[in-house]
Amino acid sequence: MGDYVERVVDLGVALEDAAALGDQVVDWLVAKGVVTRETEASGVYSVHVVEGYRPGPHWGRAVHDGGWEPGPLAVVTGRHHHVGGQGEDDAEYATCPHCHIRTTFIDYPASFEPDEEAWAPFRAAVEAWEETGTGRVTCPACAAVLPVTDWQWPDEYALGALTFEFWGWPPLSDDFVAELTGRLGHRTARHLAKF
Ligand SMILES: [Zn+2]
Repeated sequence: MGDYVERVVDLGVALEDAAALGDQVVDWLVAKGVVTRETEASGVYSVHVVEGYRPGPHWGRAVHDGGWEPGPLAVVTGRHHHVGGQGEDDAEYATCPHCHIRTTFIDYPASFEPDEEAWAPFRAAVEAWEETGTGRVTCPACAAVLPVTDWQWPDEYALGALTFEFWGWPPLSDDFVAELTGRLGHRTARHLAKF
């Protein structure tokens, strides 16, 4: 059961604050015994980092119900889109923060492929945000031009500058994720991805 990564993505932190905030949270996790400061590459299959922090003596405090020995916790900084599921790279939908109308990109179960015409401007805005910190997209419903990070995305498609990747951990507990989110001080998204 080591072939999943569970991610908690900070949706609000600015890139310039991400490294310091990530380090504070690791200090807190080390103090709790959830991880150690020792790093390990084995078990980390991230596209963004090569190693993570080894689980600590009390890693069980972070998970719902024991299970198996976890792998490392990788801390990813940098503006990235993080996608849950199995190898997808597209969002299913996004909801406009102005008119609250949902734009659907993948019309499950009728289709498993994104509507390229609808998705292309959103993907371009995500790419612009990743490169420059600014990416805007025009709402097809109300024509408002809004930062791509202000749109409401499903948890499976998360845009953030600081992400905690729990490689091969048993399912995290809701209480732990709530506590971690409180430490971060921003909204978070949480999803599982297969690797
Ligand atoms: Zn709108």
